[in-house]
Amino acid sequence: MIDGRMMLVFGLGFTFLWMMTAPAALRANPEMTERARKFVAAHESKVRPLERASNLAWWNANVTGKDEDFDKKIEAQNRIDEALADPEKFRELKEIKESGQIDDPILAREISVLFLQYLEKQVDPALLKKIVAKSNAVEKAFNVYRAKVDGKEMTDSEVRKVLKESKDSERLQAVWEASKAIGSAVEADLKELVRLRNEAAHKLGFKNFHALQLYLNEQNTDDLMKLFDELDELTRGPFQAAKAEIDAKIAAACQIPVDQLRPWHYQDPFFQETPAVFAADIDEPFRKADLIKLTSNFYAGIGLPVDDVVARSDLYEKKGKSPHAFSTDIDRDGDVRVLANVVQNNYWMSTLLHEFGHSVYSSKNIPPSMPYVLRTESHILTTEGVAMMFERLAKRRSWLEKMGGKVADPSAFDEAAAKTLRYRLLIFSRWCQVMLRFEKAMYENPDQDLNKLWWDQVEKYQMVKRPPGRNAPDYASKIHIVSAPVYYHNYMMGELFASQVHHAIAREVAHGADPNTVVYVGDKGVGDFMKKRVFEPGRSLPWNELTRHATGDLLNARAFAADFKNQ
Ligand SMILES: [Zn+2]
Repeated sequence: MIDGRMMLVFGLGFTFLWMMTAPAALRANPEMTERARKFVAAHESKVRPLERASNLAWWNANVTGKDEDFDKKIEAQNRIDEALADPEKFRELKEIKESGQIDDPILAREISVLFLQYLEKQVDPALLKKIVAKSNAVEKAFNVYRAKVDGKEMTDSEVRKVLKESKDSERLQAVWEASKAIGSAVEADLKELVRLRNEAAHKLGFKNFHALQLYLNEQNTDDLMKLFDELDELTRGPFQAAKAEIDAKIAAACQIPVDQLRPWHYQDPFFQETPAVFAADIDEPFRKADLIKLTSNFYAGIGLPVDDVVARSDLYEKKGKSPHAFSTDIDRDGDVRVLANVVQNNYWMSTLLHEFGHSVYSSKNIPPSMPYVLRTESHILTTEGVAMMFERLAKRRSWLEKMGGKVADPSAFDEAAAKTLRYRLLIFSRWCQVMLRFEKAMYENPDQDLNKLWWDQVEKYQMVKRPPGRNAPDYASKIHIVSAPVYYHNYMMGELFASQVHHAIAREVAHGADPNTVVYVGDKGVGDFMKKRVFEPGRSLPWNELTRHATGDLLNARAFAADFKNQ
């Protein structure tokens, strides 16, 4: 069947995938197709202006820090939620989706995407109210909590400073334990929140909240665990070796034997980042460089110019402004902006490459012929993956030199930058294993011994020994379990996607070059590849089909693991 939409699909070059994977119209039914078209049109006319208003208010709130802008954001978000929660609309949508009678794959995909958005909001309002209240209570407890050591209160940044800088094991232990005491303070509320989330999931027909969240994100437990088992297998050896090196350095600095290392020695409350044990300066080349110009020259060079984004962006520190960084597509009509707080160092070079990576993967490069509902990234993991792929360039000397930068001590930079990147990815991958496996088991059986479950995962995947005799709800000191549940695995999958797309570019654009040498500079083929193979399908392809469309393979850990071998 070739109608207007199929012509579009032809033009984008992924017809073949569609034929294999689109939910086939069982009995194409023009009447049902018409109902679907009407539903999508009504949705768009109601929600599109609200989404634009919400994005704009969010932007303004982060630039100004003003309460009135935050209030506007909340108001717009509430109106979107209200629209999606409408049970009548949901019934209609479900009937259209389950008919399988839509005679147009793009329209059918719009219906599937909307179905998940509406499904998420179908929680009974009274139950939802309880969930929101509970999670607010826990978040508030986190906000006001101060670790107390020897009768003195410490802020979060003071805690982090001691963990980073002290070499005194007793002091480290005291501060680390104090930072974990928030866990006991929120334990009961968190357990209640888990129970409520599971209740909401049961009512929507899912066995637990973890399974529901995965379903809403077009993922499923079995495939996800298979992927993380593969990742575990491929990273275990390299991680063990990296950790042995880190352990030796920390033990020497703290003047203790390696077998006495405990969780408080890893310079971070959860050992999710690389301890600063490699004395090397990777900021030097960036102290005098024009980081914005490097960013815009780089993206223009690969055929993905961002000058218009830079012009709309807010890139330097100022009073009241959010200290973080993000990219936002305000209207899916080309109004794309970046918020940043640029400082002359490697961190901000990485961050700019990352955020403008999100910017190029937006309505700037997803064609306007793609309908509004699908004119956005395929999945959070694919846009994070693109951003991560470009971000890694800031750790490559050849990238910087090809961009006209100068490095005073090349071999020192190579050693430090490569190690920083490699160790960061390895350490993060093991930490993500802990989060994923703990949360999955917690929602599957919240009544088990969660204290033990947490340390079992930490010992197995991060290879950090539990403190002897400790029996405390240390998992509850990680705020993401409350505020961003069942989410961490997407970052890790983003890293896998980044490696896999990078290897495909090395193969297909750089003519089979060693991926370690490919830095894209000045190669318009890279921009073409990204547009055709990653950006243009928008959300018309689910994330794993997009991965196959871009790289020829479903998402896997092989390219990510290969990146550790040759360095
Ligand atoms: Zn990002």
